[in-house]
Amino acid sequence: MSQNSSQNDILFTRAQAIIPGGVNSPVRAFRSVGGTPRFITRGSGPYVWDADGKRYTDYVGSWGPLILGHAHPAVIKAVQDAATRGLSFGMPTEDELTIAEMVVKLMPSLERIRFVSSGTEAAMTAIRLARGATGRAKIIKFEGCYHGHADSLLVKAGSGLLTNGHPSSAGVPPEITQHTLVLDFNNPQQLEDAFKKYGEQIACVIVEPIAGNMNLVPGTPEFLGTMRALCTKHGALCIFDEVMTGFRVALGGAQSLYKIDPDITVLGKVIGGGMPVAALGGKKQFMEHLSPLGGVYQAGTLSGNPVAVAAGVATLKEIQKPGFYDTLGRITADFAAGMNAAAKQAGVPFSAASVGAMFGLFASPQPPANYAEVMQADKELFNRFFHLMLDAGVHFAPSAYEAGFVSSAHGPEVIKTTLATAQAAFAQLKS
Ligand SMILES: *Cc1c(COP(=O)(O)O)cnc(C)c1O
Repeated sequence: MSQNSSQNDILFTRAQAIIPGGVNSPVRAFRSVGGTPRFITRGSGPYVWDADGKRYTDYVGSWGPLILGHAHPAVIKAVQDAATRGLSFGMPTEDELTIAEMVVKLMPSLERIRFVSSGTEAAMTAIRLARGATGRAKIIKFEGCYHGHADSLLVKAGSGLLTNGHPSSAGVPPEITQHTLVLDFNNPQQLEDAFKKYGEQIACVIVEPIAGNMNLVPGTPEFLGTMRALCTKHGALCIFDEVMTGFRVALGGAQSLYKIDPDITVLGKVIGGGMPVAALGGKKQFMEHLSPLGGVYQAGTLSGNPVAVAAGVATLKEIQKPGFYDTLGRITADFAAGMNAAAKQAGVPFSAASVGAMFGLFASPQPPANYAEVMQADKELFNRFFHLMLDAGVHFAPSAYEAGFVSSAHGPEVIKTTLATAQAAFAQLKS
């Protein structure tokens, strides 16, 4: 498949002998695209190097956190300084306040915020909070949106519209997902119908406002506006899962682009700059249901960890520099436009789109608008493109159904080089 019959293969064989599938998170295993995952030894700016010393331009960005690129000097220094003072105390530190105050200022819909260690934990807590605050059991999520791997969120749509969801993972009893309704993304009518039928039983609606876990599919303003209005009307909490979009599509997240204030926002990824930091925040009246003030339990030994938080603070300082998102958004848009042009020129049914510093690469002639359309992608074509690019030193996400990320370390020159590589790959796909 590639010239890497190499350290990566040796390491992957060793890994599979001790770690299920050889990886600690499934998509890393290359199951979707085939071949051997690259074992990374280091990263710098827009690049990573594998165990053979081969360099790749990286568009995975640790799946979102690395908006400053790899090993940004200010972030590394903050982590080193914090580590020197001690790794964890299990007692409050001032840096937790610093990051809390920074985030709340950048996202005005957040009046209170609590820090945890992963997006999964934050989304799980947000759901529990919504149920605790409303005294209701039902929740609504959308097909193709990912909110981490808490049991009640591992659900796929039932057989009929508005029927209860089915577990999408073994090990989740149907009793646990019976209160989760799964609706079509970007379908406001279904939301209306669901609220008509279950209105007073719905604790919350959770959504990725710009979905980034079924490749890239922005919510329409009508869809998100309907969601906000129905939640208000029926006393359900409107939860925006901005783990991926927060500080990624804009400084104020997707909610600033759509001008919608959710009741609760879930954050992760960029907020920790590559360290395990996540958070949930929102209106005071809801957030104060969390213990110790309220009856909704939540806790974490390493929550607000000082070394992790230091990386977050350093990252949040950098992204507030003037013009940061303008430049990054323009570079990412240029990249998407360049990919579209290259595909068109070669006559390959490929398309690209971007929002802020996030992009989608689709093995389909048009960007998709919902999960069903995402699933129509030509997976075989994507996989061939992926491996041609990988061999040529460009590392995209190893799946046709994942979004991509540009960092501030990917300057115009890096993008230009990637586009030239893509042109050659498209030409080869055609021949
Ligand atoms: C990545 C992601 C999560 C899960 O976060 P982890 O830190 O991987 O647990 C939740 N929601 C969205 C939208 C994400 O992109």
